[in-house]
Amino acid sequence: MGAVQIDHISKSYKEQVALQNINLHIPEGELFGLIGPDGAGKSTLFQILTTLLIPDEGTATVAGLDTVKDYRKIRRIIGYMPGKFSLYQDLSVEENLQFFATIFQTSIEENYHLIEDIYVQIEPFRKRRAGKLSGGMKQKLALCCALIHKPVVLFLDEPTTGVDAVSRAEFWDMLDRLKAHGITIIVSTPYMDEASRCERIALIQEGRILGIDSPQAIVEGYQEPLYAVRAAAFYQSLQDLRQAPFTKRVEPFGEYLHLTTSGYFPEKAIVDFLESRSHSEIEVKRTEATIEDVFLSLTN
Ligand code: ADP
Ligand code: MG
Repeated sequence: MGAVQIDHISKSYKEQVALQNINLHIPEGELFGLIGPDGAGKSTLFQILTTLLIPDEGTATVAGLDTVKDYRKIRRIIGYMPGKFSLYQDLSVEENLQFFATIFQTSIEENYHLIEDIYVQIEPFRKRRAGKLSGGMKQKLALCCALIHKPVVLFLDEPTTGVDAVSRAEFWDMLDRLKAHGITIIVSTPYMDEASRCERIALIQEGRILGIDSPQAIVEGYQEPLYAVRAAAFYQSLQDLRQAPFTKRVEPFGEYLHLTTSGYFPEKAIVDFLESRSHSEIEVKRTEATIEDVFLSLTN
């Protein structure tokens, strides 16, 4: 049965297509990532799975329950952390948590063990209004609120967007610990570097799934030769490499350009090309593909 089963789901907003024929199976207990840029359709898929939106086509189940027919039952057993506005800004930390416990007919004490290691970090601010918390603190409180009724499946829509790097890393550590409690976790992110924290991922773009697998299998599937290249005149080297006869694809990638060639070329041939265009301080080395390289190769 699995935690989530999605069959042929499509959804449009007037003319804007948000999801096109999505199929996905997520087994119980998995930490699954939906990876894709802004506008990919991640939030729309979450809203369908959390019963807030009805798909135009297709069906989906959560814990074996139909998202349309059984929406009431689903709402009781899932946790959902939407990207924005999930907290009551004028209520204190403590009051927000109490509120969510009450609407799910439970108490903070009943499942305190689930949230304890997260809640202790925000407890010193328990009297502070949620609206006055930092981004990282808000995120921790929102997670506590989504967990207080011990959901079977936890949906986290871009929980790390706009959060500093340290808090982002801490957040993923928390998800690992929650997974140990047997909760299925489905999390979306636009940050490709977070994909490796998931057991499996779906790459999503313009309402379509481009690939589903473990992050490792996805990067191993990148078969083409890939080089990290840089030269003193960074942007000029990008322009020049775009015109090189051996270039299949070249994109800026942090301090380097990532160059994919059509067929194997020795590093020297690339250096020679850049020298012929008067570049200096040239560095060329073979490199391993990242999720972002795979993503670009699938979308170009
Ligand atoms: P993501 O969460 O990955 O950024 P969304 O699911 O929010 O993607 O959006 C998918 C597409 O649907 C985008 O093109 C977006 O502009 C559009 N969209 C989302 N919500 C609405 C809405 N309420 N009305 C019209 N278009 C929408
Ligand atoms: Mg979104």
